[in-house]
Amino acid sequence: MKVTFPHMGNAWIVIQTLFESLNVEVVVPPTNSKQTLNLGTRLSPESACLPLKLNLGNYVEAADKGADTIVITGGIGPCRFGLYGEMERQILRDAGYDYEVVILEPPDGSLLGLFKRIRYLAGTQNSWTQILKALRFAYRKSVALDRVEDLIHAARARLPQHMETEKLYEDAKRQLALTMTDAGLRETVRRVQESIRERLREVNRAEGPKEPLRIGIIGEIYTILDPYTSGDVEQYLGRLGVEVDRSIYLSGWTGNHVFQGLAPGYRSIKSYPRHAKPYLPHFVGGHGQETVGAAVKFAREGFDGIIQIFPLTCMPEIVAASVLPQVQEAYKVPIMTLIVDEHTGQAGIQTRLEAFVDLLERASLQRVIGQTGGEVLSVGGR
Ligand code: SF4
Repeated sequence: MKVTFPHMGNAWIVIQTLFESLNVEVVVPPTNSKQTLNLGTRLSPESACLPLKLNLGNYVEAADKGADTIVITGGIGPCRFGLYGEMERQILRDAGYDYEVVILEPPDGSLLGLFKRIRYLAGTQNSWTQILKALRFAYRKSVALDRVEDLIHAARARLPQHMETEKLYEDAKRQLALTMTDAGLRETVRRVQESIRERLREVNRAEGPKEPLRIGIIGEIYTILDPYTSGDVEQYLGRLGVEVDRSIYLSGWTGNHVFQGLAPGYRSIKSYPRHAKPYLPHFVGGHGQETVGAAVKFAREGFDGIIQIFPLTCMPEIVAASVLPQVQEAYKVPIMTLIVDEHTGQAGIQTRLEAFVDLLERASLQRVIGQTGGEVLSVGGR
């Protein structure tokens, strides 16, 4: 068995670690690219959301590297993600790919079924103790990755050479991918923290302290975690001198949904439904309610602006987008919506980001000189 899986940001490092800890052969598909998307789009229904198209592209590319088994999480509730596993199985079979598809439903589905599938993937050579140990270590690695990523958000906005920050980030990811001990994880995070803090101190001494604009990124999990899908929004904002934070980090999602809140992950997402309650008091599938809750949280924390990103036709995020103007009005925080699909061009995204940042800078300047008069700044969605 050669297992593969869909790409989603840094998740590949965590999934690879999990399977390698269990001595299961794993094929990491090539990173998402135009080619991945073209391959997947050719096989997908036109109206399918972008993650499905990229997933299919990942599997086609992984098949070329010898993968024969796909692992994908399932889902329940009003979102198409719950159908992805079965749809992908049928599409791939019709296209002539002989894949076995193992769907891991979340624990709020059938626990017994979930355990059976995990046991099948891990094989008889691993005891349940070994499986739990591997899961725990993979989870810890995802927390370490999230910590580093958050530091990079701060560094991008402050270090003058953006390539320096990206190099720091790539080096850290490479080291974390190779580390297979808890001590190694701690040491890598400590080293990255130290080098970034030292560089920030140097920049402070040379140029004085900087208070960058802060933008909260919210939206559909796949889009906001995967830089290719979002059009590298976080990196580009960093280059514009903006510090970003994100509503969902991988370990926060895993802690809440996979470990049922027993492990909080980095930046727990538990409080979002409570924050969303006055605007969207019920679950609408995907991360719609969390998107609204995160917008409220970012607004209360004084963020200068918020950007919602989601794939075209994503139903939960369309519901959230219809509610966000109320949050914008209540907290006087500008909210912009970006919708992505296979026709989205990076230049278009960058132009809109530049315009949004320009608007926030002017608003911030006006606030400083006391001329805003509490005016609501509205930025057209689409
Ligand atoms: S949350 Fe949206 S983009 Fe993601 S699978 Fe569901 S409908 Fe598609």
